[in-house]
Formats: sequence, structure tokens, C-alpha cells
Amino acid sequence: MKYLVISDVHANLEALEAALAKAGPHDAVLVLGDLVGYGADPNAVIDRVRQLRSATIIRGNHDKVGAGIENVEAFNHLAKHAITWTAAELTPNNRAWLAALPAGPVNIDSWVEICHGSPFDEDVYIFDDLDARRALLVAERTLCLFGHTHVPAVYKFDTDYHPVAPPRGEMFRLLLDDAAKYLVNCGAVGQPRDGDPRAAFGMLDTASRTLTVIRVPYDLATAQAKIIAAGLPEVLAHRLAIGR
Ligand code: ZN
Repeated sequence: MKYLVISDVHANLEALEAALAKAGPHDAVLVLGDLVGYGADPNAVIDRVRQLRSATIIRGNHDKVGAGIENVEAFNHLAKHAITWTAAELTPNNRAWLAALPAGPVNIDSWVEICHGSPFDEDVYIFDDLDARRALLVAERTLCLFGHTHVPAVYKFDTDYHPVAPPRGEMFRLLLDDAAKYLVNCGAVGQPRDGDPRAAFGMLDTASRTLTVIRVPYDLATAQAKIIAAGLPEVLAHRLAIGR
């Protein structure tokens, strides 16, 4: 099976379109949550994701708050401003669809599972190997794909933890070892935070056991102009340019 892996689109339609255009042939799509929040195109992004065929979609923390099924209080000032705007912007149909998205983790096949934050709590961040060790205790599959941090990362374990250099550059190919377990973040499509402003996504080939993290430039100026025109905080436009 060939999977396209996308996460944290955050209402950035230009980044999503660039990722979909760059993605190679695939059999199915895995969407790891946070379709909305921060960006100016929540409805267009949801409409586009709803068109994807053979997609497994789980919710993120911004989806829950945007859909009105969780309180906004846990959000910082910027996120709160953006998600309040988003909640007012969503069509009733898209809000209902967002509210109905399942929580992770979800087992995809005998080898792969997906979650938004971590497999034991959809809202918890995996930032380091200690977080990853906790997550590994509940991960059921060889490969657990996660999002939420917006930073591409690979955690490899067999009898012990093995540091793997984080995915960087236009194309980072990882050959997965069947004897190990992995937690992998393919990065954020719509709001990267690793200093590379290009949209990030993954292509997973379970037959060849390869996972490729791919970066693609997108029409950043248009995404930024829409954020400004929507009256969202300007810093949300500026941060896209620096990938933070
Ligand atoms: Zn996110």
C-alpha cells in the first residue's frame, strides 16, 4: 500500500494544494488532524479534504475547538483568536462534519497506526525521546504516525532508543526496519515550525518499507494575504514565511 500522509493543514489551502499536487501515486490518504485554525480557508480546506478518496481522517485539538465540542480556554492568545474566527466562519455542514471526526489512535493496517498528538492522548505533544518512550508503551503497530508539533521527527526503538536525525531537506527517505518500532512525524502541511517554510507531508510505501518526508514550496504570498484580509493576527501570516 502507498499512503499519502498529511497533518496540520491549518486552513492553509495553498499549502494543501501544493502537497496534493506534489504527492506521487497512492492508494489511500491518512489525515492526522488540525484541518483548521490559524489559516484563512477553513471551509475550502475541509471541502478539499472531504473530496479525497480512501481517506482516513482523525481530529486534532483545533478541530475540536473549532467545531465547538471542546472549550477554547486551553489555547494561547493567538490560537484562541484564530479558532474563534474559524468557529464563526465554518458552515453548519462543515462544523458538523468536523465535530464527527474520530479521535486517534486509529489502526490503519497490521503495520501502521495514526494519532494526532500521541497514542495515549490525542492532545499530548511528542517532543523528545522521553515523550516517545511513553507513547511507545501504548502504540500497537510497528509504525505510529503522529502530528501536533508541526516538526518532522523520527523516533526509533528496538531493545533501546536509537536517535535518528530529523527529516530535513526536500526529500528525506527512511528505510524502516521490521525488527524496530517507530514514531514518526511527517511535519505540518500548513504551518511548519522547523524553520523550513515549505509544506511538509509524507509518502509511505508499506511494500518497500520506505517513508519519505517531502517538502514543497507553495503560494505563500496568497496564504498570507488571505490571513491579513480576514483580520486575523498578522503574526500568523509572518510566521508562515519563517516556518516557526
Ligand atoms: Zn496543529
